Amino acid sequence: MTGAMTRSGQGGVYVLLGNPVAHSLSPLMHKAAYRTMGLDADYVAFQVEDLKRAVEGIRGLGIRGASVTIPFKESVISLLDELDEEARTLGAVNTILNQGGRLKGCNTDWIGFSRAFEGHLEIKGKSIAVLGAGGGARAAAFAVLRAGGSVVILNRNVKRAQQLAYELGCEYEPLEGIAKLEAEVLVNTTPVGMSPHEWECPVPVEILGNFKAVMDLIYNPVRTRLLRGAKEAGAFVISGLEMFVQQGAEQIRIWTGMEPPLERMRQVVMEALGVTRGD
Ligand code: NAP
Repeated sequence: MTGAMTRSGQGGVYVLLGNPVAHSLSPLMHKAAYRTMGLDADYVAFQVEDLKRAVEGIRGLGIRGASVTIPFKESVISLLDELDEEARTLGAVNTILNQGGRLKGCNTDWIGFSRAFEGHLEIKGKSIAVLGAGGGARAAAFAVLRAGGSVVILNRNVKRAQQLAYELGCEYEPLEGIAKLEAEVLVNTTPVGMSPHEWECPVPVEILGNFKAVMDLIYNPVRTRLLRGAKEAGAFVISGLEMFVQQGAEQIRIWTGMEPPLERMRQVVMEALGVTRGD
């Protein structure tokens, strides 16, 4: 027999399932991590046209683990055998672990958020405004609530904000109310300001001084218009890059049981994005 089934130790093949995946930095980051860890492992991105067959392929080919990204984080759930508690609560899976043909769905986005944020500021006791009501917002709000912070969700479509607030047990406001909002931290989870629309900002720049800290989930560019405006207004800023690295690092822990080389992972992602430390 050849292929993943015969690979020994913690090697093997890991895949990314998404559509599109062409610009994903996950293959670069994971491969660099495996090399540094001395693992005989590979990571391949697949643009998935048929999710059901792709998931069958994980079982059939003995693929050890998969990352799941847009637009499959929710639809993949019905194709799996079990979910961990957090993925079930969040209703989203970004990580699949293959346990001898039984596929377990996990979510590392919220852990990535939590580690990235708490690397700088404690969440407990903070009031945090989450802009957006999609997958990223869900992960961020869940992480904040679990760590003892309070959340108010603001979204363009207020019905989605209301629904998410109801599911997670937090507050919501229409997006227009942001100027009068009393929150210490603003977290952007919308794609507004993402490359190639780097000049866009999801909120008026004039209000950024209202917040002590601003985090953007976007990591390309690393310094978004939002973060540049917030820094100029005197707020502490956190980029989405560390969340991206941390969610990938947690996937490696789940798949291999080994400690990932965080510094090397940060380094390759920063190089790929053309940033240097302190940018
Ligand atoms: P998503 O599920 O599609 O949700 C997008 C949200 O943004 C929705 O609430 C949507 O509002 C809102 N939105 C979209 N365009 C908008 C606009 N022009 N003005 C105002 N609101 C707008 O996407 P997602 O998975 O949460 O991802 C969102 C961003 O977070 C992406 O840039 C992604 O790369 C980033 N992200 C980063 C990480 C990381 O590890 N750093 C992890 C997850 C996500 P409506 O409901 O009104 O449509």
